[in-house]
Amino acid sequence: MTKIPACLVLLLVISGLALAQVKSPDQFLGYKLGSRYTPHFNIVNYCRQVAEAAPDMVKLEQYGTTNEGRPLLLLYVTSPANLARLEEIRQNNLRLTGITADKTAPDDKNPAIVWLSYNVHGNETSSSEAAMLTLYELVNPANTKTKEWLQHTVVIIDPCINPDGRDRYVNWFNSVVGVNPNPQPFTREHAEPWPGGRANHYYFDLNRDWAWQTQLETQQRIVKYNMWLPQVHVDYHEQLYNNPYYFAPAAEPYHEVITPWQREFQTIIGKNNAHYFDQNGWLFFTKERFDLFYPSYGDTYPLYRGGVGMTFEQGGHSRGGAAVINRDGDTLTLWDRLYHHFTTGMSTIEASAQNATKLVQEFKRYYDKARTSPPGEFKAYVIKADEGCKIVRLQQLLNRNNIEWCRAVNASYTGINYFTGKSGPVKTDSLDIVINANQPNANLLKVLFERNSHLSDSVTYDITAWSVPFVYGLTTYGLSTYVAGLTKTTEINKPQIKTLNGEHSVAWLIRWNGLNSVQFLSTIMQKKVKVRYAEQPFKAGNEDFDKGTLIITRTSNQSLGESLGSIISNAAQKAGIGYTAVASSFVDKGFDFGSEKVHGMQAPKIGLLAGDGVSPLSMGEVWHYFDTQINYPVNIIWANDLNKNILRELDVLIMPDGNYRFLADRMMNDALRDWVSSGGRLIALESAVGQLSAADWGIKMKKSDDDKGDKPDDKKDDYSMLRRYENRERDFIPGFNPGSIYKVELDNSHPLAFGYDETYYTLKQDNTIYEFFKDMGWNVGVIRKDNQVAGFVGSKLKDQLKDGLLFGVQEMGQGEVIYLADDPLFRSFWENGKLLFSNAVFMVGQ
Ligand SMILES: [Zn+2]
Repeated sequence: MTKIPACLVLLLVISGLALAQVKSPDQFLGYKLGSRYTPHFNIVNYCRQVAEAAPDMVKLEQYGTTNEGRPLLLLYVTSPANLARLEEIRQNNLRLTGITADKTAPDDKNPAIVWLSYNVHGNETSSSEAAMLTLYELVNPANTKTKEWLQHTVVIIDPCINPDGRDRYVNWFNSVVGVNPNPQPFTREHAEPWPGGRANHYYFDLNRDWAWQTQLETQQRIVKYNMWLPQVHVDYHEQLYNNPYYFAPAAEPYHEVITPWQREFQTIIGKNNAHYFDQNGWLFFTKERFDLFYPSYGDTYPLYRGGVGMTFEQGGHSRGGAAVINRDGDTLTLWDRLYHHFTTGMSTIEASAQNATKLVQEFKRYYDKARTSPPGEFKAYVIKADEGCKIVRLQQLLNRNNIEWCRAVNASYTGINYFTGKSGPVKTDSLDIVINANQPNANLLKVLFERNSHLSDSVTYDITAWSVPFVYGLTTYGLSTYVAGLTKTTEINKPQIKTLNGEHSVAWLIRWNGLNSVQFLSTIMQKKVKVRYAEQPFKAGNEDFDKGTLIITRTSNQSLGESLGSIISNAAQKAGIGYTAVASSFVDKGFDFGSEKVHGMQAPKIGLLAGDGVSPLSMGEVWHYFDTQINYPVNIIWANDLNKNILRELDVLIMPDGNYRFLADRMMNDALRDWVSSGGRLIALESAVGQLSAADWGIKMKKSDDDKGDKPDDKKDDYSMLRRYENRERDFIPGFNPGSIYKVELDNSHPLAFGYDETYYTLKQDNTIYEFFKDMGWNVGVIRKDNQVAGFVGSKLKDQLKDGLLFGVQEMGQGEVIYLADDPLFRSFWENGKLLFSNAVFMVGQ
């Protein structure tokens, strides 16, 4: 045994003693909490310090890493007795739900699980500061109250859901603030530069992503969420600095699956919060503005998974700085903001501890009911596999949300077709899937698959339609009985690889039917493989191939020699798709590969506009698509820097939703037209379409009836002018479209609609629609008559949103302008739109 020198032993003892002292945030950080912003790394350091100093009460876990490499943390805080059996508590909690394979009877005396999520929006910065104080007071030996609460609760703290966004804000703020913060709201430190700190690295709003999990942070977090399923979840936010604090109970509409207990407990928490706010004379409001409907928020998602989810909002985000003078002339400081959040955190834990037994019992009852009498119109769903990868993406969505599903067998059923609304026979095979509604996750399943969502009130904060079959474009049937005898699985469909005459192949054929086809194209284009596409369907080797099929011939790729075959098979494997190799370029039906109906494709050099005026969310969707989904290089350009020389470097230019000042500049407008005329392809998204229309590019917005003026024979009811003052917020409802689903008819002989059948379901979020092109343009996606299929839309708009163009292509000289009036990449979860956008980028004009 090695002898340790006495002095070292002494040192170890001293440092051990030092470790045993939990430091307050002020002691650890070296400044008073709230006097300045704490960068994320120091929040992490503080959490580690607490976890090391109080190992009997705190367990720290890194559950992930952000896009920019910052750690994502959870802290489990509870009494020493609970922490010693933390895994047992977790297992028991899962047994309450029936999700786990362990069917032994659960103990309903389990402590309640309370999960507190901070700083999902990066520039709502006070909440991560509050997280440190909350953590400290839970373990602070002098605080005897919290020790009592922790006997009945396990508190899970996520100190910062969105570290990249937070640091974007904090690093910026710290770089512009002087020795003392300036509280004048018009000064520089109160106006963040583009894109702001709200969203994550790719400018996604993580508080719209809980159910879809398109983002790295969410994907990693929900793995842990599935393991814990808390009874109470609080999502911390900030709103405009003049607003008083907001806490539960939430505003209408509530989704109909929310239970009486979930409503009641929000009021219990709200009243407890109110007690502390009243003591301090702090203003607050409840039951207004923040509703419980769209399933992908930090309050609704936990509700649809059996917990009580709530949003708490402090005033002060972004423009609050570190101190700001508000409307009342008072100075709101960072300390005020974080202390309010700290107070509601303590109050929530207290109320949860006092109601722990009831919370756990109600949680069990929620899941018992889900398994035995699930809500909703259907008892089971049959989803037909597509030829492409959408079924795989749906399987991944179900797996991520712990929704149970089964692989179908050869069988027949009767069901209602989502797309036609009609009942009829449905045949299944082993590529299709069946989902039974009687399962632990019945409520989330119902919400995601409901054909139409019932709104208890039509003023909502977000979109009102998200029905998964429309979002994915997958033919789905609702059944009125459960399907027995199938085995649950989580194994996703495998690609179908067919190789005909592989040894002596002269060409390889790849079907164009989904994002995975685009991933394949991206890889081979970057490997300098020459590729063509077929404008017309054809038949080769006894197989039918549709429009848009990619064709790679050996003749066009001589320079790659024998490596061509392996480049193709590696790219196909990476993309998870199959291909067909054929021995002759003579096709049995259709045009041969040498025909002019088979088009050569060039790898486009792509530009994407960003910066002031551009919507960060829209630009981020496009960036995320290129960077992470198809891995294709994209040149991001400040919109204000755009000029002739930059345009010369590009084949495709993408204008995300936004406001483009350069269109008002005659010279720049002409330069852009000249670039298109000489072969450029301009893709305009959402409001960019409207601006090109206003700049007389050739597409015309359909005027609403209001704009047309009253027709002489159109007698107005004079009494309808008499509006009641108290109804003023409601008066905009007839002209309101919070986001609903419309059926779009496609001309799928145009490359913009390759890979689709004749319909596409679009998320319509506004009232804009365009006139049909008469000449010089192609009406590729149109709404005929009133083709709204799901969601809420105001009565005035219902009349306007018909017989118009949403997706069109205008030919201009050698080039094209592609107009996409709705967002096909919406929050990256609108899976069926991704091919439409890909067609605009890779197919149109080739
Ligand atoms: Zn927020």
